[in-house]
Amino acid sequence: MIKKVLLRYSTQRATEPILASVIKQTGVLLNILYADFTSRGGEILLSIDAPEQDVGKVIGLLKQRGVEVQELKRVIQLDEEKCFSCGACLSLCPTRALRLADDYSVKLEEDKCIYCEICVPSCPVQALKISKYG
Ligand code: SF4
Ligand code: SF4
Repeated sequence: MIKKVLLRYSTQRATEPILASVIKQTGVLLNILYADFTSRGGEILLSIDAPEQDVGKVIGLLKQRGVEVQELKRVIQLDEEKCFSCGACLSLCPTRALRLADDYSVKLEEDKCIYCEICVPSCPVQALKISKYG
């Protein structure tokens, strides 16, 4: 399973090697999709690709170390029936979650999406939609 979680670090925790120690302890590789972080704290968006039990361990350890963990409950959808491959959204996507396939159709890789929502208003036919759940 892939779970995306938003971590919030306080000033007190910002200089500790928390992610490195969680990776070492669990053996789960964590993918940082986005980070807005200074020595005063900040946010990191993580993608965790691991069995549910391991995801739970990672989240538990992060919380134990004083990191606020928020599960991201969002879904992005590309309506391939509406999309006419105009390309308007492609260059706006900061993570290349939206890309042009070899057959010139537009593809969405949700795993890479950080839900910045920049692409949504760029589409002239409303083919991109972000929903929140939970
Ligand atoms: S919301 Fe759109 S622009 Fe932002 S990362 Fe996801 S696909 Fe890319
Ligand atoms: S802007 Fe809309 S129609 Fe154009 S490529 Fe992106 S999803 Fe498709």
